[in-house]
Amino acid sequence: MNQQVKQIFKTIDGKHMGVYETVAEAIEQSAIAQIRFQGECSLDARNRIIAAIRQAILDCAGSLGEMAVEESGLGRVDHKIAKNQLAATATPGTECLQTHAISSDDGLTIEERSPFGLIGAVTPVTNEVPTIVSNAISMIAGGNAVVFNVHPSAKMTSAVAIDRINRAVIAEGGPADLVTMVKEPTLDTLQEIAKAPEVRLLVGTGGPGLVNALLRSGKKAIGAGAGNPPVVVDETADIELAAASIVAGASFDNNLLCIGEKEVFVVEQQADALIGAMKKSRAYLLTPAQAQQVTDLVLTADQDDETAKACSFGMEREYHLRKEWVGQDAAKILTAIGVDHSEPVDLLIFEALVNNPFVQLEQMMPVLPIVRCRDFSQAMTYAVDAEHGNRHSACIYSNNVNNVTTFAKRIGTTVFTQNGPTLVGLGYGGAGTTSFTIAGPTGEGITTARDFTRVRRFAIAQGGNRII
Ligand code: NAD
Repeated sequence: MNQQVKQIFKTIDGKHMGVYETVAEAIEQSAIAQIRFQGECSLDARNRIIAAIRQAILDCAGSLGEMAVEESGLGRVDHKIAKNQLAATATPGTECLQTHAISSDDGLTIEERSPFGLIGAVTPVTNEVPTIVSNAISMIAGGNAVVFNVHPSAKMTSAVAIDRINRAVIAEGGPADLVTMVKEPTLDTLQEIAKAPEVRLLVGTGGPGLVNALLRSGKKAIGAGAGNPPVVVDETADIELAAASIVAGASFDNNLLCIGEKEVFVVEQQADALIGAMKKSRAYLLTPAQAQQVTDLVLTADQDDETAKACSFGMEREYHLRKEWVGQDAAKILTAIGVDHSEPVDLLIFEALVNNPFVQLEQMMPVLPIVRCRDFSQAMTYAVDAEHGNRHSACIYSNNVNNVTTFAKRIGTTVFTQNGPTLVGLGYGGAGTTSFTIAGPTGEGITTARDFTRVRRFAIAQGGNRII
């Protein structure tokens, strides 16, 4: 660990604000903070607090990015920093909370967005800091406090982010402990958070195990789960644009993002041109033998397992990722299979059949399979199958509006982009706001402060007038 990063892990007074030894303490302190926040802070104060959080995270976006890679061993520092900056600047705030008024001759009714109170939130290792920042801004904008069960593999970096957020809140006159975490997060501490009566809403960002656990909790839960985003390239696509964008999207943070492009279906007549153009955009084309070496290196298979399903796609084997290869650099994978490559490389690509495990698995590595398809119809069918009904993210390169609309309707994903990386759907290089909690399974979509509030109705009978 470099000295500068080592230094920032230690806070000024040796304690990370908002980080507690036990769940009980974290919950108690956050619950008190939320009551004070709701009672004492005006909407204007809420806005100032959120502005201070944004600035505090921007001030240490670089160190937090370095720490995240250092601690988790995943991803790329430059992209971690970009994600921290995106979460700090593009997560919307209180503007998402709109009051709805209905007036008639019979009276006036107002529906307002009101806090849940204390929220329990779980974060992934893949987007450690940005999920905390994006959740904290949205939840605080909604008038809530939040207790996090962060991913254990990024707990120190998360503690620093939570410390910085608390210091920013206090500097603007807000209460301490609006955002807390338990120091040693485990599945047991998550259960404690889920069961605590003070916690009124659960928010989980992670894989299917987490989302299912939260949905079984008996509490209101917002679940942001896994994806396997396909890309379709049709005969009308601008190939130079498609190639550069696919490489940029699929290699971003070494493909750790849930929205990141995971497999490509290209019509036969465009396949050679696409692959050629991708090679000019820092992609390395693996030979079939090298692709097999990479498969043997980064995946494991249960042999002839009769229970194989989901990603087995009709094969007798069920494949799993070797965790040590998730989020690693493309160059490191090349070196491991003995390829001496001196040019800079961001992404490994190879030609695959549709039932290749890389096509069907959410691999989260800079290794992208490309499937040649007879025509657009076949590409779309393969893409819908490979997405496995996650309804998460998908992408198309096309200038045929019919193809775009047909694919968008068939796949029904929360994020759908045309002629640009899926990152555009999170406001990175595109219009719109961001969130690092994309709630497909429970339907909130790109979550905002609005999703972390309850609707309360206030009605004045007969418009407040006495009937004469
Ligand atoms: P993960 O599911 O392993 O871990 C996420 C969090 O859930 C961690 O804090 C972990 O401790 C906890 N967890 C894991 N299994 C659990 C279980 N059975 N019960 C209770 N808690 C559990 O995921 P990860 O490796 O940290 O992140 C990658 C996954 O998250 C990918 O599948 C990715 O697509 C998904 N993801 C989704 C979104 C989204 O917004 N939809 C965003 C980021 C990541």
